[in-house]
Amino acid sequence: TYDQLNCRSNQLADRLHKLGVAADVLVGILMERSIDLMVGLLGILKAGGAYLPLDPTYPPARLSYMLADAGVDILLTESELRSTVPADLAQIIWMDLDRQVIENYSSENIDRGGCAANLAYVIYTSGSTGQPKGVAIEHRNVVNFLCSMRDAPGLEPADTLTAITTISFDIAALELYLPLIIGAKVIVSPREIATDPTRLLSELRESQTTVLQATPATWQLLLAGGWDANYPLKVLCGGEALPAQLAQQILATGSELWNLYGPTETTIWSTLYHVSGDRQVVRSGQALVPIGRSIANTQVYILNQQLQPVPIGVAGELHVGGAGVARGYLNQPELTAAKFIPNPFSTDTSARLYKTGDLARYSIDGTIEFLGRIDDLVKIRGFRIELGEIETALSHHPMVSQVVVVARAINPDHQSLIAYFVPHQNCTPTTNEFRSFLRERLPEYMIPSVFSLLETLPLTANGKIDRHRLPAPNFTSPEREFIPPKDGLELQLTKIWERVLGRQPISVSENFFNLGGNSLLAVQLFGEIERTYLQNLPLATLFHAPTIAQLATILRADRGSTTWSSLVPIASRGSKPPLFCAHAVGGNVLDYVSLAVHLGAEQPIYGLQSLGLDGVQTPLDRIEDMAARYIEDIKSVQPNGPYFLVGYSFGAFVAFEIACQLERQGEKIGLLALLDNAAPNLIQIRPSWWQSLSIHLRNLQRLERSAQLKYIIDRIIFRLIYQKRENSHKEFLLDRWAINLPPEYLKVLDANFRAGENYRGKYYHGRVTLFRSDIQPLAQTLHPDLGWSSLVGGGLEIYDIRGHHTNILTEPSVGVVAEKIRSFLAAN
Ligand code: AMP
Repeated sequence: TYDQLNCRSNQLADRLHKLGVAADVLVGILMERSIDLMVGLLGILKAGGAYLPLDPTYPPARLSYMLADAGVDILLTESELRSTVPADLAQIIWMDLDRQVIENYSSENIDRGGCAANLAYVIYTSGSTGQPKGVAIEHRNVVNFLCSMRDAPGLEPADTLTAITTISFDIAALELYLPLIIGAKVIVSPREIATDPTRLLSELRESQTTVLQATPATWQLLLAGGWDANYPLKVLCGGEALPAQLAQQILATGSELWNLYGPTETTIWSTLYHVSGDRQVVRSGQALVPIGRSIANTQVYILNQQLQPVPIGVAGELHVGGAGVARGYLNQPELTAAKFIPNPFSTDTSARLYKTGDLARYSIDGTIEFLGRIDDLVKIRGFRIELGEIETALSHHPMVSQVVVVARAINPDHQSLIAYFVPHQNCTPTTNEFRSFLRERLPEYMIPSVFSLLETLPLTANGKIDRHRLPAPNFTSPEREFIPPKDGLELQLTKIWERVLGRQPISVSENFFNLGGNSLLAVQLFGEIERTYLQNLPLATLFHAPTIAQLATILRADRGSTTWSSLVPIASRGSKPPLFCAHAVGGNVLDYVSLAVHLGAEQPIYGLQSLGLDGVQTPLDRIEDMAARYIEDIKSVQPNGPYFLVGYSFGAFVAFEIACQLERQGEKIGLLALLDNAAPNLIQIRPSWWQSLSIHLRNLQRLERSAQLKYIIDRIIFRLIYQKRENSHKEFLLDRWAINLPPEYLKVLDANFRAGENYRGKYYHGRVTLFRSDIQPLAQTLHPDLGWSSLVGGGLEIYDIRGHHTNILTEPSVGVVAEKIRSFLAAN
């Protein structure tokens, strides 16, 4: 309760006061997130001192640097963090071990005569010259901020705010103090919960939280973790640009949304924008949400290089003046003078403006739009990072000669840090060596995901590194030894990891977090694992089993207790009738993931996967048996028709047979979409000699007459040299794929091939929609219907899709397929 908090923090304040803590004396606080943290913070403030928040996940060297740079002698901490506590401190107060001692101090609320210009806290942010820098914030800065926030976005005594931000990020102060000045409830969520969206969501529900502040990345994480319209919140979003698309998703939950902007140097947030109900935001998914107008007693100027205000619509550097402007950088008068300049628009000669380095413009309605950065500061998942600091740290590595770090998207939704380096001669450092080197110096969020070796760095005409001409990154090997997957489960997991992390190859012994994995990617990874294996593992599993091999062991152990289902929910939310997609010859359903993305979250999609991929069941080798088994599983989620079926490649046979059997059972079929496979009566599993030449008509048509002959001769030579044997279709494919499949996969593949070879098809009375690749083998161009007409009674509709057979379910073709399927689903 407030009383207990008051009492305990007064006792701590008294103890600190007796140790000499007074105005402008800094006390370090290194604690996990709990109510004791609140006692610690308030105790320091009540003693009249100021605090230096230290994140326990930071490397000890960085913590020591910050403590020394800030001249801190007293540290509040707890015994669990003993190993992180730097050795050379004059005084350590253990909040848990010393609790009884502290309770002997006075619990009275004593006025220690502090004033508004005293220091409240110092927050360290990334520094471009290689070391972090401390921003000194005074009481008046924080008081103005909290009073302004009380009015807008506003908080009521009846509200419950769950605090999830690390105290080393200044926005934590809103979470911890705003409820206190209003008399609302604050819940300090521990780190394990704050970083696991599933647990966080259930905590939010249980505690009936009404307000939550987080960075866009965390909101995205919550949405990925299943946050929806059942639980609207007052959403405070800031720390990084808010994309309109994310804003739309948040608004769709029925929440009240605020976009908050501000640098640490002007105290937490300096502008705000109420997004709810704003029609403008819906205008484009790519756009950024405006950052609005300044908070109370704050002035924002958008200026050109001559410090002249720019007209509406013209970009300039955003400058902030007023009550939030910090005292400056701790012990750095030159840097302070460069970034905190005299305010040319004020009659008060002591007034200053902070040069934010942000590019912005005014729109006609007076709101401010954020446009990006002027310098190399980047924001990744809300963390402020000076690329120069990482470059400096990495340049100290003994094997590195030159280095440049950039932030780029390596997976469509994800910005990552990429370090390009030129090694010293004859040196081949591994990614893991870099990581362990950097881990001793930088926080985890500053460690690049990718290390890419270059022989030289591209330079501009005047000899500077040309960041724009850096090539796409190549992936430096993580370890000296590469361990391939040993079975089907590991292979399937490897494929999921590769997709989520946007890189390959990945050794099964490689740590997820060393590969650039983070909480957001972990949620995507576990989402895919859940869909593929129907196993819901807590996110924390990844911390004790961070490699593919370890995760596979856990899944195998877990699987003993679950029964294998051929049904894989690729997207299981939404109320529309589900789409069932039959596996291709490989037996898994990963082919359909992009289709699911295109059809959107509201469209449930189930994949049908082969039995035997788990290495336990025996694979079925007759399409009729597969269909019968899959129908049982389909009926477990949809007991009655109409059914919507899709089959790609070999899956076309399976989907077709399912439709035939369902029809015989008297069920209705809403859609039977076959994706680029010839009918069983047409396809020749053993290709004739001339078919295996793989001459494609479209390729031929594109060529000049003389080149056509050369193309055909080339194919014949290729066939004679490389495919001397009369390969079966399977060997032919395996040769082409050139992959070493683990035994379970080979068994499934073998069974599926046999099933395909022996399937003769049936007569289906319904209608079939055939998607046909527009690059067909010559043999099949003689049959534009790919042979299906003779098996289909209800009509055959044919769509040509640009691209090769193997690309039909990848970008951009998948978009066209999805669009057609969507219109069928909508019409039914
Ligand atoms: P920090 O000091 O960690 O709060 O980072 C401040 C920087 O984050 C600002 O200078 C901006 O570049 C960026 N930033 C913070 N909030 C927003 C926002 N709502 N929209 C765009 N950028 C933001």
